[in-house]
Amino acid sequence: MSRHIFVTGGVVSSLGKGLTSASIGMLLERRGLKVRMQKLDPYLNVDPGTMSPYQHGEVYVLDDGSETDLDLGHYERFTSGALNRHSNYTTGQIYLRVIERERRGEYLGHTVQVVPHITDEIKACILSLATPDVDVVITEIGGTVGDIEGLPFLEAIRQIPLDIGKENVMFIHLTLVPYLKAAREAKTKPTQHSVQQLRGIGIQPDILIVRTERPIGREHTDKIALFCNVEKKAVIEEVDKEFSIYEVPIGLIEHGLDELICQKLHLNAGPLKMDDYRQLVHRIRNPRSEVTIAVVGKYIEHRDAYKSIYESLDHAGFAHSTQVNVKRIEAEELERQEPELLLKGVDGLLVPGGFGMRGIEGKIQAIQFAREFEIPFFGVCLGMQCAVIEFARHVLGLADANSSEFSSDTQHPVICLLEGQKGIRYKGGTMRLGAQPCVITPGTRTATAYGKDEISERHRHRYEFNPDYRKEFSDAGMTIAGTSPDGGLVEIVELASHPWFVAVQYHPEFKSQPHNAHPLFKGFIEAALQRRQLRSGNLAAGSSHAE
Ligand code: GLN
Repeated sequence: MSRHIFVTGGVVSSLGKGLTSASIGMLLERRGLKVRMQKLDPYLNVDPGTMSPYQHGEVYVLDDGSETDLDLGHYERFTSGALNRHSNYTTGQIYLRVIERERRGEYLGHTVQVVPHITDEIKACILSLATPDVDVVITEIGGTVGDIEGLPFLEAIRQIPLDIGKENVMFIHLTLVPYLKAAREAKTKPTQHSVQQLRGIGIQPDILIVRTERPIGREHTDKIALFCNVEKKAVIEEVDKEFSIYEVPIGLIEHGLDELICQKLHLNAGPLKMDDYRQLVHRIRNPRSEVTIAVVGKYIEHRDAYKSIYESLDHAGFAHSTQVNVKRIEAEELERQEPELLLKGVDGLLVPGGFGMRGIEGKIQAIQFAREFEIPFFGVCLGMQCAVIEFARHVLGLADANSSEFSSDTQHPVICLLEGQKGIRYKGGTMRLGAQPCVITPGTRTATAYGKDEISERHRHRYEFNPDYRKEFSDAGMTIAGTSPDGGLVEIVELASHPWFVAVQYHPEFKSQPHNAHPLFKGFIEAALQRRQLRSGNLAAGSSHAE
């Protein structure tokens, strides 16, 4: 029988519930257990696909094409259990299912209500993951305890121990213990109040994980245990990590969290195997070199908007024992300032995905600079489309070349709407989404990076490289390095005459893991390192350089 762990959060949002849940998943997997991860989000959007990155951060795409919460990115980076559309439900989806059922007349004349119909639907979504082969389902509840919209989810998880036996269920609550500088003291009261609120709903947490800026010590955790009705050893402090989020699981082991969970849930777990992971963390803490990568985007000030891109850059850095410093540049800034000023001293340029035309011209200028000054360049989705437009304008001499997303009357729509997208009116879930196979052209830089000729990568776009221009581009030096298996869609372009200029229509950042960096990110950082070495060699030799 599968056990269920529910992770809730209190006091404030942004406590890193997703990271903690993913870390718990990792520890249990590394004790030989089969784990499934799930996130329940209380907002009304059916999925985050229609939300602005300012509101929600990145939209994380799964193989099956679901557009999901960015916490699922943490799950995939920390654990290996497959995720699919059942791994992320929102209030919008739950209501949609219930209302559709009501329209079909399936409630047989009953009044349809939040309790029991919405809560039953939530329970069904949770329990559907508990297949016979799964040892533990970890379900993270989005939002903060006390939010009105979270109540049906909390009510549903309160009922689950009654349905499947309380010995099979565990509640973990994550809170914050703030440190008040003026009083020189850590404060436990907000945690007490948050647990009171949870107990008011009928949920008694089994474990409290308290986030703190600095260690708070037993005196405080014992006090929390007493006031919150939790065993002393089950109050665990999670101190902010100095170097990397990948240290979180190590910190939790030091407080015995994996053992506590295994004992309480009577799990038949093996010994914890963390040697390789500890080595990885050692490598993260002790880089031998560093590079600076410019990321030019439209939502740059929102840290979560390009979450998986930043993580993937880090992973590639880990693979090369290199610290990757990211210089985040607002694309529109490049329309106001000379690219040399903003891109001076960077070892690589990455232009990530995006929608809408704000900042496009700045991205194109940055790419032109990287192409002309041989700075390693990596284009992702919209970044690839901008690289194609840049090449068309400045190498092919098609001055008004553009994407039909940004200019409907351009003479040269080098990026145009995908055939299947014409006539689509609904915005939600209608892009070209999810895993698609791609065939790589032998002898290209991409082929070397992947070391194989057929790959599968995740997509999320409506526009594509216009096939009418393929020959013109190839003849001028932009190689088509990968296409869909039927050859119809251009998925990868690169420049043979440049040290490293690769741009892809898909999102490689969704398939990179800390111990298994994505091959293209790895190749990109390697090229950046080479440029860095070349640059320092040139500086030492006193040569003036296009810096
Ligand atoms: N806006 C572009 C398109 O729809 C790129 C999408 C993206 O970068 N994810 O094709």
